[in-house]
Amino acid sequence: MSEQTQMRLGNENSILSRGRVRRLSPEDLEVASPEDPTEQLTDSERAGELRESAVEAASAGIGAAVVTADGDVYTGCPVEGKGWGVHAIELAVSKAVSEGTGSVSEVAVFSEDGESGLCGRCLQAIADSRDDDVTVQIVDAEDCVERFDFDELYPALWRK
Ligand SMILES: [Zn+2]
Repeated sequence: MSEQTQMRLGNENSILSRGRVRRLSPEDLEVASPEDPTEQLTDSERAGELRESAVEAASAGIGAAVVTADGDVYTGCPVEGKGWGVHAIELAVSKAVSEGTGSVSEVAVFSEDGESGLCGRCLQAIADSRDDDVTVQIVDAEDCVERFDFDELYPALWRK
């Protein structure tokens, strides 16, 4: 066998030869393409989903949902025991922290009157676990939504 023939055979048998290279598309791998518009939520759709999560989590008329920088959503409702209790936001933030999935980047809190879901303790819970920029949405039973930058709600942070 000549040297030239050996080289040709070598190329044909290579896994890198032209005939063997096949481009895989996301469909081949059964994963969603990042360019797929159905998979991309707008900011307002994401904000709406977070509000819905807060509403669904509600107990005694109050619920909260937080999303972390990793995109994970955690929900909470008020829990009261004999001599102890946690607020909805505190619980949602606690879940995010205990799962260790990153800092809180957005918060939604639902209360029927739109005024009862967010207190100083909850603001401190967000402050201790947040990204630099956090948006807080407050939604009531009429689906009326107010959005705040966290710094508007809690401009002078308490530091031990
Ligand atoms: Zn609270």
